[in-house]
This record gives sequence, C-alpha cells and structure tokens, in this order.
Amino acid sequence: MQCELCGKEKNLTMAIIEGARMNVCSECSGFGKVLQRPVFVEQEKPKHKIYQQEKAPETVEMLVPDFGTKIRRVREKLGIDQDKFGQMIAIKASIVHKIETGEFKPDIDVAKKLEKLLKISLVTNYVEEKKVYTKDESGSLTIGDLIKKGK
Ligand SMILES: [Zn+2]
Repeated sequence: MQCELCGKEKNLTMAIIEGARMNVCSECSGFGKVLQRPVFVEQEKPKHKIYQQEKAPETVEMLVPDFGTKIRRVREKLGIDQDKFGQMIAIKASIVHKIETGEFKPDIDVAKKLEKLLKISLVTNYVEEKKVYTKDESGSLTIGDLIKKGK
C-alpha cells in the first residue's frame, strides 16, 4: 500500500493527521496522531436488559378473589338452586358449582353478566403500573408470578 501522504510503498500505520484518518508510513505518521488499532465508529453497546421496557399503564380486568363465595351467597339469598341459576345464565349446574367453589373461573364477560344479574362486584380493574420489574432481584413476586399463582 502506498502512504497516503508521501506516496511511498511502505508498511502503513493508521494515523490521524489534521483531523483526517489516513494510512501513512511510519515517517509520515509523525505528523499526526498514531492510532494503535483501526478505529471503528464505536456503537454504544446495548445495556444488559435487566429491566423490561416501559409500557403504558394497562388496565387488566380480573375476577375478585372471592367471586365464588359472592355468587353463592347472593344465589342462596335469592333462593335459587344451582340448576335454576345455571339455566338463568346459560351455564351447566356443574359449572355453577365449580364457579362457586372457585374451581372454575368464568370469563370476564360472564362475570360481568353475573355482576349485573346479582348486583355484586365480581370484576376488578387492575391497573398495571408504569413500572419496571427487575429480574426478581429482591425475591419479590413479579406480575407474572402473581398471575400464575392466581390460577
Ligand atoms: Zn509517508
């Protein structure tokens, strides 16, 4: 390769001469700053993603934990048996039983119908905070864990 400054065929080093990066011979490199290694435009390394990306707050509709008990209490108060109740909401009596024992979680839509029908509160809005969760550094539960445990 030829020195970009003097044109001599020599082993070249990369140097910055008057602000320009050039391949020059050792003699010419004296005019500028010699770089030890080829310089690339250093890209900032992406930081290790400990944190999840921030999200806008999300409202998640969840059943109240004691939805089964609530349903059963009102049903019994109304003097309706599980069969009759099931017919009213187009659900099998066996499912009504499972719902009341908390064994089966009705869909939110179904729960909302029940709310209106029974005039009780079964669905709660859980607002996911605009907060980042660490990878369980503190040993505390993440939202994911809570949802898993809730099932
Ligand atoms: Zn030169």
